[in-house]
Amino acid sequence: MSKKKCQVCRGSGKEIISEKACPDCKGMGSTKIVLSSYSSGDASDGCKTCKGTGKLTKAKKCSVCNGKGEILVCDSCGKQITESEITPGFGQICQECKDSPIVFVLKPPCSSRTVKVGTYYHATVKNFKDFGVFAELYSGIDGLIRNKNLKGLKRSDKGKKIIVYVSGKTRDGKLELTPVELKDYRHGVQRESMERMKISSISRKTEKKQVLIQGKVSQIRKTSGPISYNFVDESGSISGAAFIKPTEENPYQDITIDDIVEVYGVVNTHRDVLQIEISDMVVAGDEEKKVILSKIEKALEQKSRPKDTPFLIKSPILESMKTDMHKLAKMIRRAIFDGTPILLRHHADTDGITSAVAIEHAIIPLLLAEQPEGVGYRIKRSPSKSPFWDYIDVTKDVDYALQDAIKFGDKLPLAILIDLGSSSESLTSIKKAQIFGINVAVLDHHFPEKIVKQTVSLHVNPYFYEGDYNLCSGMLGVELARIINPDVSDKIDYLAAIAGTADRVEGSPLEQYKKIAKKKGLDDELLRKIALAIDYEQYFLRFADGKNIIDSIIGIDNLKSESHLELVDLLYTAAKEAIDDQINICQAHLKEEELSDGVILGRIDVEKYAKRFEFPPPGKTTGGIHDILVKKNPDKGVITLGLGPDFIVLRSKGVLINFPKIIKSLKKKLPNAGIDGGGHEVVGSLKFIEGMNEEVVQALIKALSKLESNLHSEEKE
Ligand code: MN
Repeated sequence: MSKKKCQVCRGSGKEIISEKACPDCKGMGSTKIVLSSYSSGDASDGCKTCKGTGKLTKAKKCSVCNGKGEILVCDSCGKQITESEITPGFGQICQECKDSPIVFVLKPPCSSRTVKVGTYYHATVKNFKDFGVFAELYSGIDGLIRNKNLKGLKRSDKGKKIIVYVSGKTRDGKLELTPVELKDYRHGVQRESMERMKISSISRKTEKKQVLIQGKVSQIRKTSGPISYNFVDESGSISGAAFIKPTEENPYQDITIDDIVEVYGVVNTHRDVLQIEISDMVVAGDEEKKVILSKIEKALEQKSRPKDTPFLIKSPILESMKTDMHKLAKMIRRAIFDGTPILLRHHADTDGITSAVAIEHAIIPLLLAEQPEGVGYRIKRSPSKSPFWDYIDVTKDVDYALQDAIKFGDKLPLAILIDLGSSSESLTSIKKAQIFGINVAVLDHHFPEKIVKQTVSLHVNPYFYEGDYNLCSGMLGVELARIINPDVSDKIDYLAAIAGTADRVEGSPLEQYKKIAKKKGLDDELLRKIALAIDYEQYFLRFADGKNIIDSIIGIDNLKSESHLELVDLLYTAAKEAIDDQINICQAHLKEEELSDGVILGRIDVEKYAKRFEFPPPGKTTGGIHDILVKKNPDKGVITLGLGPDFIVLRSKGVLINFPKIIKSLKKKLPNAGIDGGGHEVVGSLKFIEGMNEEVVQALIKALSKLESNLHSEEKE
């Protein structure tokens, strides 16, 4: 006989008809007004009319349970039944279940205690004995069909699926079964009812225990062993493993990413990390789904919101970027907490590398706390040779993302473009990634184009706030990293000064960041050395992130230790020698001329007069030559062009030019030259088709001459 607490009166047997505040004590429950926060505790103060409750209630006998506080329920379907419905010998079953009985499948967690007398179960014929045959309802739970009840079951039926009726159960849980033939029946699942557990409550203390969690599937990875899942609820996330025999069909194959599921299983540890060994998993009902989803969404929203972290430096521009910086930090935090992989696509120069490294170091500890085994594939840092999202790179990125989604059940990543992505050169790549479902945001200090801002989810760039390239990507990355994870601040704060030094920016932010670096013992010389050492090493790393090597050069874990300084010195010296060697050769072939308005124009053919495919690459070579020209002409504007067969690198100082604009006008003038390019206002590069080399160079020089006279007229004003 099953009885259940009446849910309407909550077991009280009374149903409240009306409730109002006690007129004598005005709902206070006391006749004295206590002014101090300490109550006198004197019972005589209590209002007699309402017995101190402050409420007057009228109640009647609960109509659902007839005042008993509990109800009778059908053993089969759990619906309420009346005593008159109970037929002797039929168990406590409602009429509907008699007409079309429910045949149950036992699901974990379950034991013989779960099995109810008078109901039907699916079972498998097992071992024949002298006195009858055993049938198994669930692995380890069986019952006896006595010889007199065999109803034609033969030894050859071993392994056959049958339906049994539970006719009796002994005190120690032994089941008496009768095989039945049912033509018309309904399906049911029966398991021990369990309280749902929040994921955050799972700990070493709950190890080996049966638990039920409800959450969202954030990942499904098929491994050579079990299928590995990751579940998220409003309190946290945990992984689960489903062991499926090779001969067995995957019972969870219909469950996909983002499904809301109920997971039954046992807590254990795998490689020292807590996980759930899944014994059963079902998609939650529609109502439950809604509740769980809204709980998860609310918690995720709250957890993703970054703390208010003040910037390291005083900068009005940075201050005005705060809202967007927080938005970007929130986006990244959300990805960490909801199981979205993060792709950091960054420019492969020191500025881009330090920026991405800072962000990477902010993300990893949070990921470790969230999904330790996921660190290997949930964050990826990818250096990019070009200062834009190259179509080759995005194709690779999208291809890998889709492969991982199919092979491992990963979500599609959030792509953050760092120190690149602001120009329309990246537009097709961005759109392509978006078409495939990848969310794209940009953190950059290169001259931005509005069309990019209109296309990406978020475009953070100082140019949108009356700032410029002097707030470089490394600085932005360090500040963003600190917003994402304030704990990491001390570990990465000096990277901003390395970045600024490498990108040769000027102004108050760099000075302030340098002060921070100086406190850690990094003077200008060491900043320059580390900056060049990173550039040098990345040249050989090519497309690899070289995480451990780069971390070592930056000195993330051993800043200024003997081994750190030794490594920096070695790489710096090698880089310096290579550059000096190259510059010496180039200098002999440098063409210098003075433009009509006194600006020096240096030209070096980096294709003919520089070592090819060796460090330093053409951009850096041009930069080196440019430095020499600037030194030689301290009070003059200087423009240096590094000329290749199908490209030009431009460096300038003391000249007001907008290189992206020049490129635009060149494109118009020479529509058949296939011109493409970008960069900052004063440095950059352009590509074109080799056959138009002469025309492009001439048009560029002409455009440069024009702009310089503009500058001079402005200066005179
Ligand atoms: Mn940069």
